Amino acid sequence: MTGRGRQPPYVALMSSLPARVSAPPLAAPRPAEPTRRKHEYRYGEMIPWLLIHLAVFGAVWSGITWQSVVVCVGLFFFRMWAVTAGFHRYFSHRTFQTSRVFQFVLAWSATMTAQRGVLWWAAHHRAHHLYSDTERDLHSVKQDGFLHAHLGWIFTDCGETDWKRIQDFARYPELVWLNRYWLVPPVVTGVTVLMLFGWPGLFIGFCLSLVLSWHATYVINSLAHAWGKRRFETKDTSRNNLWLALLTLGEGWHNNHHHYMNSARQGFYWWEIDLTYYSLRALAWLGIVWDLKEPPARVLEEGRRRDAEARAARASNG
Ligand SMILES: [Zn+2]
Ligand SMILES: [Zn+2]
Repeated sequence: MTGRGRQPPYVALMSSLPARVSAPPLAAPRPAEPTRRKHEYRYGEMIPWLLIHLAVFGAVWSGITWQSVVVCVGLFFFRMWAVTAGFHRYFSHRTFQTSRVFQFVLAWSATMTAQRGVLWWAAHHRAHHLYSDTERDLHSVKQDGFLHAHLGWIFTDCGETDWKRIQDFARYPELVWLNRYWLVPPVVTGVTVLMLFGWPGLFIGFCLSLVLSWHATYVINSLAHAWGKRRFETKDTSRNNLWLALLTLGEGWHNNHHHYMNSARQGFYWWEIDLTYYSLRALAWLGIVWDLKEPPARVLEEGRRRDAEARAARASNG
């Protein structure tokens, strides 16, 4: 017997196998389903909001007068102007200067839309720009779907004023008072309209215009992040939309606004209709507001370049 002896059978088997094997490729991981945050809605808070909607149907009982229709149209546009010029362009973004008296006039007028207090509104809007379309955005179509961004978020746990974001205006006691008693302006408006124009005035003039001004404000959080063109490649989903700009007196140029928010005008070019900006120019001419901020030349130039590129891409696609 030699030392090597006979090899056990498994050695022969092992040596017949390839020295290296490659593992079969793993199945590609399935793309994760977008996870929607679970929001807790406060359904009780929807009741007064729903009742204002239902009150419009009171006109079936009271009838509609031409005065109530005029009040409805007038109050709708006045309130939209106040939200746009006041809540948004002045208190949220400080895109122009004004006196302390007119500052209060703007705050009171915008608060007539019953969208909570002026400091609450501006503070949460500043957060929207900071966290647009991230998990910390209160109203994001991308994160939470259309309905939540349009109106659902209002009924979540977001009613506290974020004081640290609005310290610049929180030093005015009259604004702090109005922020707390934000129901005063809409109630005074409703009672006045009822006394002057009767029940049709209340149902159509006040309630219908209120409901319309709510939804016209909401579409900037929902539709203006879903429908329209994107001139600037912002990190969010904001879009420019002429129809929304007409409805909201200039807020539809939302992609412009997200790209450069420190401008009193959101329609950056003459063909982008921005009625609120024109009204601010008129008020500046009268000396009521001043120091209107404009988009810088580099932003306007970049926008023109992007428009030209988009036109060229369309032409080459036939
Ligand atoms: Zn803004
Ligand atoms: Zn936005």
